[in-house]
Amino acid sequence: MKKEFVVIGLGRFGGSIVRELMSLGAHVMAIDNSSERVDEFASIATQAVIANSTDESVLTSLGIRNFEHVIVAIGEDIQASILTTIILKELGVAQITVKAQNDYHEKVLRKIGADVVVHPERDMGIRIANNMMSNTVLDY
Ligand code: ATP
Repeated sequence: MKKEFVVIGLGRFGGSIVRELMSLGAHVMAIDNSSERVDEFASIATQAVIANSTDESVLTSLGIRNFEHVIVAIGEDIQASILTTIILKELGVAQITVKAQNDYHEKVLRKIGADVVVHPERDMGIRIANNMMSNTVLDY
């Protein structure tokens, strides 16, 4: 059975997750409140939906609770990211991964129960620095 994911926020980060999950053979519901972004992913994701993820009734009607893993890739609008995460938590989503914009955002996300918090720019910087310090193999 194919793995099923939801990606909320189709910026550079969320968009690249959608593309990679699709290439790995997963089912992906891609959500954004921008119709341009959703149009871009209509032919890439299994399903692309225009929706505001801070609206609980919308997430409920999309059947979000049936997906095993939801990724919140909203960056700049920290309030929307936090509210979306709380709603996903209340709906009982099993695995929630959220992109943090800064350390304060990360702290709040952990407090409200995000299962995994990622900080792509910082994490990638750490990884590259470690790779630069380790000898021969460069795996960016
Ligand atoms: P990136 O660095 O990944 O390009 P970013 O960190 O700059 O992204 P934003 O561009 O702020 O993040 O947000 C990513 C996407 O999330 C945008 O396409 C935006 O339209 C979408 N988004 C923001 N708020 C909501 C919301 N409430 N519901 C659904 N999508 C949203």
